[in-house]
Amino acid sequence: EKYVYLFHEGNASMNELLGRKGANLAEMSALGLPVPPGFTITTSACRRFYDEGKTIHPDIVRDIYHALHTLEETSGKRFGHPSNPLLVSVRSGSSTSMPGMMDTILNLGLNDYTVAALIKHKENKHFAYDSYRRFIQMFSSIVLGINDSLFEDELEKVKRQANVKQDSQLTPDHLLDLILIYKEIVLKETGHKFPQDPKQQLLAAIGAVFDSWYNPRATFYRRIHKIPDHIGTAVTIQQMVFGNLGSNSGTGIAFTRHPSTGENELFGEFMFNAQGEDIVAGIRTPQPMTVLKERLPETFDQFDKIACNLEKHYRDVQDIEFTVEEGDLYVLQTRSAKRTAEANIKIAVDMANEGVIGREEAIMRVDPAAIAPLMQHTIDPTAELNVIGKGLDASSGAATGIIVFDAEEAERQHRTGHSVILVRQETTPEDIHGILASAGVLTTRGGVTSHAAVVARDLGTPSVVGCESFKVDMEQRELHTDTVILKEGDIITICGSTGRVILGEVPLVPPKFSKEFCTLLEWANEFKTMRVYSSVNTPQEAELARKMGAEGVGLCRTELMFMDPERLPRVTRMILARNQRERKKALNELIPMQKYDFHGIFRAMAGKQVTIRLIDPPLHEFLPNPSALALELERARVAGDTKLIEEKEALQQRIEMLHELNPSFGHRGCRIGITYPEIYEIQTRAIAEAALELKAEGLEVYPRIIVPLVSDWREMKKVRETVEETLQQVFSIYRDRIDVPIGVFIELPRACMTADKIAQYADFITFGTNDLTQSAYGFSRDDAEGKYLAYYLDNNILPENPFVYLDTEGVGRLIEIAMEQGRKNKPNLKTGVCGEHTSEKDSVLFLQNVGMNFISSVPQRIPSARIAAAQAAI
Ligand code: ADP
Ligand code: MG
Ligand code: MG
Repeated sequence: EKYVYLFHEGNASMNELLGRKGANLAEMSALGLPVPPGFTITTSACRRFYDEGKTIHPDIVRDIYHALHTLEETSGKRFGHPSNPLLVSVRSGSSTSMPGMMDTILNLGLNDYTVAALIKHKENKHFAYDSYRRFIQMFSSIVLGINDSLFEDELEKVKRQANVKQDSQLTPDHLLDLILIYKEIVLKETGHKFPQDPKQQLLAAIGAVFDSWYNPRATFYRRIHKIPDHIGTAVTIQQMVFGNLGSNSGTGIAFTRHPSTGENELFGEFMFNAQGEDIVAGIRTPQPMTVLKERLPETFDQFDKIACNLEKHYRDVQDIEFTVEEGDLYVLQTRSAKRTAEANIKIAVDMANEGVIGREEAIMRVDPAAIAPLMQHTIDPTAELNVIGKGLDASSGAATGIIVFDAEEAERQHRTGHSVILVRQETTPEDIHGILASAGVLTTRGGVTSHAAVVARDLGTPSVVGCESFKVDMEQRELHTDTVILKEGDIITICGSTGRVILGEVPLVPPKFSKEFCTLLEWANEFKTMRVYSSVNTPQEAELARKMGAEGVGLCRTELMFMDPERLPRVTRMILARNQRERKKALNELIPMQKYDFHGIFRAMAGKQVTIRLIDPPLHEFLPNPSALALELERARVAGDTKLIEEKEALQQRIEMLHELNPSFGHRGCRIGITYPEIYEIQTRAIAEAALELKAEGLEVYPRIIVPLVSDWREMKKVRETVEETLQQVFSIYRDRIDVPIGVFIELPRACMTADKIAQYADFITFGTNDLTQSAYGFSRDDAEGKYLAYYLDNNILPENPFVYLDTEGVGRLIEIAMEQGRKNKPNLKTGVCGEHTSEKDSVLFLQNVGMNFISSVPQRIPSARIAAAQAAI
């Protein structure tokens, strides 16, 4: 097996073997771009490293030396040579990019002799010592495991003594001092001198990169991004080029289009006289690309052209790392750029319009789950804001929350239900769990390509970075702004779209879709074959749903219409009624209200169908809290109010009678409509009356009724009779009629298994996959998610949360059986799904493939559902 590939032996398609970085370096070399030569050790060598007790097999070592020798020949330099040394970088890279997760070592091959050669060669002591002290620091912290802050502290000390701000302002003597101090640290911490043999350095560095695959932050990153553990990382060895060679040298990162807005313009950052990680680490805030254009216009033009070609070649926006050594350009990495959801959509649509990709591909490139930030509210442009600072707009969206100063605190506060803004000088990969727990991220240093910015964009978390007028005082745990000092726990708002930092909460306005987003959604409609309905409970929601592009209402839950402070007491009275007379009385008060809502929903959905579910009251949710009631009773007793005492006692008795051991499986759904038919009668009447009244006004209305929690065909038959009789009554009173299909809501396994019989009495089937998941697993969701489910997911007892990702082999199988059964005698029976699964792409793909006719989502998820449905059909 071949374990080592020279750049010219590989290409972009080999990313599983060479890692994405190595594969793209190979591809770029083949394209003839200025890439320093090098070679890549495969991911398979990494897996072998672990299989063989963390050792690099001698055969692989031999191959490495062989490739190194080739590198020496191409570069005309020799590894470890005292007068003409070859220096290399050792870079990690897996097949799925894990930015900032693994460590890179630069300037390897330096030692006390080669550094002297470097001085002579470039006649630049500053550069040679700067490279050596960087190398000692990187090698020692990454390979030897010495705490990096020991080195950072010394560097800060020397800078303070020299009275300079930037590393690049240190004199060669300072740097030489540092080198000696660093070597002391190494001796003290490891008991050995800093390794001087370049080959030993190289093998140790390769081993360390392999080893870093399982470091905690890489493992954590893989877990949240669902990247498998076993794939391993490749290691790329590449000849060094130097951005720290003076004022015509530097290092940069650029995007071929703007990663936050998607605007088609080169966007990047550059730092003169700096090396690699300086930009990403956010230690100095870099300058915009225009500085390169001003100082080295030819180099800039060359880069601009390369960037443009790379984008065309890869047919996607590229994120390019490059270095300029004394005016000469070198490209060091390219990859598909991480971007905000907003930018992603604009780029996909623009590229389709430019003819670079097709419309199908534009749709496929938008993850339905990732557009959630676009549904977020933004800061009201007319609001008066107390702006206390301004940084760089790193990741769009507004977020309000309490200030926290470290990742642990962010997690802690998040767990107790707080919205938090993580405020850091700069973030490091160790902070990732804190960023995940935060509503927003604010840093005082670093640019838009810094770690915080990249991760925030990736996660869709609003972020402002490089807010340099702020100081974080970690000792006092305070944030010093120009005007105020803020403490941990104080509330701020950040606007990641403008870079503003605002004191306190601010008024927000609903989202406005960009032109490109609307275009993409129109394209989605061209491709999708399932209808996308909305689940709404109020006329306002119906209006929103229509704006979002819903083709009708797939589910209107009538019980939720009662969750209104004015209506709730009447519902309670209806539930607590001791007899039919009392119940009818309470209902008669409720029905006009409900009819009014139906009017609103029918109007908002004029011309489209509206499916209304007959009431399914989880009784306990409507009843007064027993301990609150006990307290009221006691108060009445103390006050000696006999009438009130009687009333409360009666209520208490009724509640005790209605008490259910397991309300989810309780007296609810169609069981209510069968035992108290007057409830369904009156609801049916309200629906039919509302529909006929609007029809009389000339409006097109398409009402449908659906029956909840059916487990047996006899239930369905019974309810259907009630509903049909009532409809006939209304029709004869109104001297008009309207078609009202009656469907079944399937959320119980038994209904799935006997759907053929049920379908005899049902005009259509809607699966409620949230509840079907509960009843299929026997999980009560509210309890499960807080208790064992999290454990199950962490320990891989379950691969995914079945409430988020439809469990295709169990719940999905039940659905398939129900569809087969249901269509046995009614081949054209329409079936659909309501539930959270309807905007999750894998679940939607499954639903498409089993032949579902429609899906129904909440209004905010309609755009996701439309995209998911289009992707499923493509
Ligand atoms: P990461 O995956 O964290 O981005 P890289 O391997 O890309 O790590 O290395 C980080 C940076 O180090 C690069 O962006 C580049 O600036 C610098 N670098 C890596 N290899 C070389 C090299 N051969 N010459 C000069 N700089 C290099
Ligand atoms: Mg790195
Ligand atoms: Mg990189």
